[in-house]
Amino acid sequence: MLKTTASNERPASHLFYQSRLRRPLVDRAEGIYLWDQDGRRVIDGSSGAMVVNIGHGNRNVLEAMKRQMDRVTFAYRLHFENEPAEELARRAAEKLPEGMDKIFFVSGGSEAVESCLKLARQWAVATGQKDRWKVISRFPSYHGGTLGALAVTGYAALSDPFSPMMREMPKVPAPTAYLDRDNLSMEQRGIKYADMLEDRIQSEGPDSVLAFIMEPIGGASTGALVAPDSYYKRIREICDKYGILLIHDEVMSGAGRTGKFLGGDHWDCKPDLIALSKGFASGYCPLGAMAAPSRLVQPVLDAGGFQHGFTYAGNPLACAAGLAVLDEIDRLGLIDNAAVMGDALKAELVALSERFPFIGDVRGKGLLLAAEFVSDRETMKPLPKELNAHQRVVDLAYERGLIIYSRRTRGGVEGDHFLVCPPMIITREQIGEIVAILGDVLE
Ligand code: PMP
Repeated sequence: MLKTTASNERPASHLFYQSRLRRPLVDRAEGIYLWDQDGRRVIDGSSGAMVVNIGHGNRNVLEAMKRQMDRVTFAYRLHFENEPAEELARRAAEKLPEGMDKIFFVSGGSEAVESCLKLARQWAVATGQKDRWKVISRFPSYHGGTLGALAVTGYAALSDPFSPMMREMPKVPAPTAYLDRDNLSMEQRGIKYADMLEDRIQSEGPDSVLAFIMEPIGGASTGALVAPDSYYKRIREICDKYGILLIHDEVMSGAGRTGKFLGGDHWDCKPDLIALSKGFASGYCPLGAMAAPSRLVQPVLDAGGFQHGFTYAGNPLACAAGLAVLDEIDRLGLIDNAAVMGDALKAELVALSERFPFIGDVRGKGLLLAAEFVSDRETMKPLPKELNAHQRVVDLAYERGLIIYSRRTRGGVEGDHFLVCPPMIITREQIGEIVAILGDVLE
């Protein structure tokens, strides 16, 4: 049970809470810490939901937002262009793979994914490929809560209730190669999983397949899943072979968290479309983006324009926040810090796994890290479902002043894991604080 605090005894709320229990009222936040209204401090070991990459309460970002607020907070994009949006698009394009020169702003991750799906489809129609509409994705995966993004999400519990309202999209297994007990090398397993995509394209009919969407480094659904290197190269080859667009969902893995600006930057596997959000404005404002190359955008514009858009997209305040976040990432060297601190934190998690045999795998890159629970390390058999280990660890950590993130399911099979993804400003000492609490919790 969570410790009862005064704020847990609040009267019934008119808010529609999704969670199974009420949490304390948040009071303020700074750096990697949050305080509730009873003055209790917790470490934000998951950056919210892997959002607050540059940490809470960054003064420079807040000042930039205030300056923008004093000028104009909203101007509709069909009436005015605005400088923060122009400048943010320019700066983002500089950080993205070469040729990703068109940025379409939205207000969150689901909208960014929807935008990729809809641009892909409109590009196909505009270029005479009307039969292409299927977007193959992976299971498990999470790409968003709107119906389009949900249709490509490989998470049955979330999508099943809505299946009559959505067009079913094909799914292939995410490459949980670490689970396979075969005689193949990791590299061969990477190819094996990529080839499942090719098999699926063949069985669906190559001319009906529009795109393949994946998270280069998995987020919550797979627990920071990193595929063998061979997987990324082979996926790109397969997409090229069949003229299929490769969409990278970088909503969680982007904006520096993995030690490079994009998760996909760790491999030579340039995507055709990129969805960004979360760390892009680091929680200072709702902001997301689709990045696309002109070669995909121009045919759509020439055919009459992109039939898609959201009212708040590209508003000056959100873009000013995003711009200031990028400035802070550069000024403070946060991507390098995520790489260095990520290595240190991962080493500590590996050390914990040596102490606790029920941790079967530690994985991830930079500060997108996860640990997997098992009852037997040899067979990677999961812990019994009834133990609800992932939720218990989250609750015990919260009680001890640490927020972490957890999920049931791994690689489409039963199991559970937790993620440790603190803000990229974290120091070596603060990693020590997190690991001390985690050790205590696991004990
Ligand atoms: N894609 C990924 C990989 C995500 O992790 C999320 C959010 N967890 C989304 C899309 C959807 O983002 P949002 O909740 O901002 O709509």
